[in-house]
Amino acid sequence: MSLHRRNDIRDALLDDVYASPDLSHSLPKYRMPAEEREPRHAYALIHDELMMDGNARQNLATFCTTWMEPEVRALMAESVDKNMIDKDEYPQTAEIESRCVHILADLWNSPEAADTMGCSTTGSSEAAMLAGMALKWRWRDRQRKAGKPVDRPNLVTGPVQVCWHKFARYWDIELREIPMQGERLLMSPETVLERCDENTIGVVPTLGVTFTGQYEDVKGVSDALDKLQAETGLDIPIHVDAASGGFLAPFITPELEWDFRLPRVKSINASGHKFGLAPLGVGWVVWRDSAELPEDLIFRVNYLGGDMPTFALNFSRPGGEIIAQYYNFLRLGREGYRKVQQACHDIAFRLSEAIDRMELFDIIHDGGTSGIPAVSWRFKPDAHPGFSLYDLADRLRTRGWLVPAYSMPPDREDLVVQRILVRHGFSEDMGNLLIEDMRAALAHFERHPVGVPLTAFETGSFDHSGR
Ligand SMILES: *Cc1c(COP(=O)(O)O)cnc(C)c1O
Repeated sequence: MSLHRRNDIRDALLDDVYASPDLSHSLPKYRMPAEEREPRHAYALIHDELMMDGNARQNLATFCTTWMEPEVRALMAESVDKNMIDKDEYPQTAEIESRCVHILADLWNSPEAADTMGCSTTGSSEAAMLAGMALKWRWRDRQRKAGKPVDRPNLVTGPVQVCWHKFARYWDIELREIPMQGERLLMSPETVLERCDENTIGVVPTLGVTFTGQYEDVKGVSDALDKLQAETGLDIPIHVDAASGGFLAPFITPELEWDFRLPRVKSINASGHKFGLAPLGVGWVVWRDSAELPEDLIFRVNYLGGDMPTFALNFSRPGGEIIAQYYNFLRLGREGYRKVQQACHDIAFRLSEAIDRMELFDIIHDGGTSGIPAVSWRFKPDAHPGFSLYDLADRLRTRGWLVPAYSMPPDREDLVVQRILVRHGFSEDMGNLLIEDMRAALAHFERHPVGVPLTAFETGSFDHSGR
């Protein structure tokens, strides 16, 4: 080997990562490079690029878990090679999934918790698809038995998360989404009844509406549907989208009747990776009893060994999130969940008080127990602040906070709202930092109003040529 070549190899081994040819030149991004490279070089490159992402802990837009205990990280790393669909190969992971379903059925007051059906999913979106399909199948059976047409199913919801729009479109169902009206930003029993008929496969109230954080009145809707049945014979089931609330209400407002205590509630979904405190990638759907889940939606496969019933859209899926969910159940118990969620509610409520004291905003949801630990607000109707909530969101971003501003769904598209989620891992002191930054932003806009045109614009002396 020539001396020159040996030096090449020595250089490659000793090169500082950032002095290496891999990092001191730009690498191709949209086609696969021809050669391989050092793992630490590829790692540094990608690690550094990801710094440009927002900081998840400061992302107050997300509902999802952004803080977890080291034990969760350890279990996730230990199970990174486990495929939860291989139930015969990983029987304990399958057993743990099944235990989680029973724990949730019990938490949601299923009268038959031991005999209930349910499964894990990738999140509430997949759970909504599965629950929605069960509703559609059950409705179709009923219609066929009565010799009635089965071509025009509809689903009645309040202002729902986009997964229900997807469900309706993908499965050819008319979505009767109750529009917001004036100060009513949720479904009401009356508005539900107006939209129900014999083609209604179900009604979906949301426990923790995405746009505001408030709970819809499941019991009120259930009572109204009981009355409808007494008067007309129409028996319309309820599915509760408890993506967030399913892991909050049982601990914080156990007296609130929204779950299987109401006989009309046939199924419930929740996101394990939201207030379930599990890492990203797990949701749950539970049916009150096996009769609510039509047998022909369940597939039995034996090519992995064993005879395993599955109901899921996907096949392979990581097992770690389910294991981490089970860890949280064991680790925290009811007491631990109550403490964590109560802390979130308390901090959210104090934030809402501080935001209220700024005297510019009307609080829509104050983070209290009539909804999730989120605060949503809008400008007071008579406020002329010289900036928009979008401007405020931008300004807060300069300090790393992600505080979304967005317009409401129909018929209140005119209403712009801002919202923060208080999740596990958000401390009172982080809240104080946020409030200080909000105050600083307001002071900034007072000095530099956004809505006021520059003098140059007003006098017409501004050069529009872009020079
Ligand atoms: C987040 C959310 C969903 C979607 O859940 P994923 O777990 O993100 O798929 C559905 N409904 C509601 C009310 C939600 O908050």
